[in-house]
Amino acid sequence: MNEPTSPAGSLVCPIPVGHANAYLIRGTRPVLVDCGLPGSAPKILSALTREGLKPWDLALIIITHAHVGHYGSAAALVGATGAPVLVHAREADYLAKGASAPALPDALIGHMLGLFIGRHAPQPELAVQPVIRIDAPYRLDAFGVNGTIIPTPGHTNGSLSVILATGECIAGDLVMGMFPAGRPRLPIFAEDPEAAKKSIRTIIGTKPEIIHTGHGGPFSCGQVEALLT
Ligand SMILES: [Zn+2]
Ligand SMILES: [Zn+2]
Repeated sequence: MNEPTSPAGSLVCPIPVGHANAYLIRGTRPVLVDCGLPGSAPKILSALTREGLKPWDLALIIITHAHVGHYGSAAALVGATGAPVLVHAREADYLAKGASAPALPDALIGHMLGLFIGRHAPQPELAVQPVIRIDAPYRLDAFGVNGTIIPTPGHTNGSLSVILATGECIAGDLVMGMFPAGRPRLPIFAEDPEAAKKSIRTIIGTKPEIIHTGHGGPFSCGQVEALLT
């Protein structure tokens, strides 16, 4: 099975934050995709410094979906950078309340983890007001990036993916690279499992050379396409 390689002209810089991944897109105006659990802001701010950036250079924070492992540090980062938060309109209220979109198990491992994760109450200290709420493809030209954020429902109803003209895709939890680590799998939690498969077909259809995931990864297009067979 072919291994993924970052394409020439890669704009995506992975930032590991605990068990999850955040990503920096290096356009003329830098864009962050996801930001990890609460407490991840210092790691992300250090990554900006390593890239020669100041906190206030950050132009946008894209949240792929309203699970705390992906937006838990958004409020802290907005405080540190002043960057606006973008999320799908369907997930915006969860962020505004510090709550999480449902995590509905779609695999045995999901059921097992669900016993531990449960449904936690909103955490008001994590609440963040999304400035940009989208429900359709959103171009990133204003950030000097030839790319588009697209709705890819399935894991949650308002999940988003980022597709770049460089051949890079950031798919959030639409594809999971854990349980086990090292290979991709369909999301272990899915609000709509059939929609998740359709969304995976959508991103495969853009022929990405590399697919970055919210946990583990990255993967080649062929590796992810094999999930649908
Ligand atoms: Zn998730
Ligand atoms: Zn996740």
